Amino acid sequence: MSNFQQIVPIANKIIKKYDLCDYCLGRLFSKQLHLSSNKLLGKKLKKNSNPVEKCYICKNLFDNLGHFLKLMLDTSSNYTFKTFSVGAMIKPSIVDRDDFIRSQYKLKGIDSIKTDITKELGKLYSRKTKRKTDHIDPDATFTVNLKEELCQLRSKSITVSGRYVKSKRGYPQKQQSCDNCSGKGCRICDFHGITEFDSIEGVISKLIFKKFGGTTAKFTWMGGEDKSSLVLGSGRPFFVKIQNPLKRKTKLSDTVIDSIKLYNLKLVLESPKKSLKFSSTIRIKISTESPIDSKSLKKLKDLTTTPVIVYEKSGKRSEKKVFEIKYKKNSKNTFTLMIKAEGGLPIKRFVIGDNITPNVSQILETLCMCEEFDFLDIEVQ
Ligand SMILES: [Zn+2]
Ligand SMILES: [Zn+2]
Repeated sequence: MSNFQQIVPIANKIIKKYDLCDYCLGRLFSKQLHLSSNKLLGKKLKKNSNPVEKCYICKNLFDNLGHFLKLMLDTSSNYTFKTFSVGAMIKPSIVDRDDFIRSQYKLKGIDSIKTDITKELGKLYSRKTKRKTDHIDPDATFTVNLKEELCQLRSKSITVSGRYVKSKRGYPQKQQSCDNCSGKGCRICDFHGITEFDSIEGVISKLIFKKFGGTTAKFTWMGGEDKSSLVLGSGRPFFVKIQNPLKRKTKLSDTVIDSIKLYNLKLVLESPKKSLKFSSTIRIKISTESPIDSKSLKKLKDLTTTPVIVYEKSGKRSEKKVFEIKYKKNSKNTFTLMIKAEGGLPIKRFVIGDNITPNVSQILETLCMCEEFDFLDIEVQ
């Protein structure tokens, strides 16, 4: 702990040799004096000396912060947010001179010039916009490049959850990525990572981009379906994380777009880290190679007694429970199967018998093909 009188001789020694601006001189001592304004301290310490033409350390960068404030204001003009933080890139030569003075005079525990610049920029921006600085979890982060006079802003991602109902066949669930960037986001796709909007993913993305702005939208689905499948009942739940949104809040209501209905749209904290447990009720239209009789169909009921084991090419093995089974014979070679099963059971493979056991073909002792499957309901457990 020092007092003002103790540091005056050191300060005098420094300013005799080096021209320093108020900010840079004040910064060297403000911490040990527990003062918050470097500028005022610097001014006080230089009371009797001549005004400085060019600061040895910063080359008068602190006098030009207004210019960078304007850059920050311009960059953030389309964004709505409450809290922010500032990062800065400055010329290495400035940092070197700052380090040099500190080591020459053995000054320890003081803010670096970079810290001080970001603090000052934060103060200026906050004063102008009434937004608050938050270093731990800001809504938006500025990166001010003082060397090249550029400013970038990234806003923290937001996540929306909802459910979709698909009442007409023909929409794929997922959208193909932009050819040019494989989904990362580039100029061609307007940084969205997709260029078309003709899928469930595309339709939801389009709405989300309209409401919140942003670059890419990353989806977490609770299960999947075919292009030709319907999704009925209360719909399939999904989460979508939007990177760099312009808005962080907006009114969300149920929406119908063509034959896709979006329900329960709301902002949530994040997408689930672990996959959530859910069950699906599925109606499957099946055709068989040999004619089937009701007696063999009855054997399908056994599926509820033991779990279905699914083997993946990767070697992964998982078990899916079947809770309910109903069936209806439609003709000699076709029937409809209704099952309620643990989410994620690959339906087509389950019918034909592709690395899944037990399976429908195996039980009926004839090759079965899935002609169509629709989701009647999806329940989160
Ligand atoms: Zn300076
Ligand atoms: Zn692209």
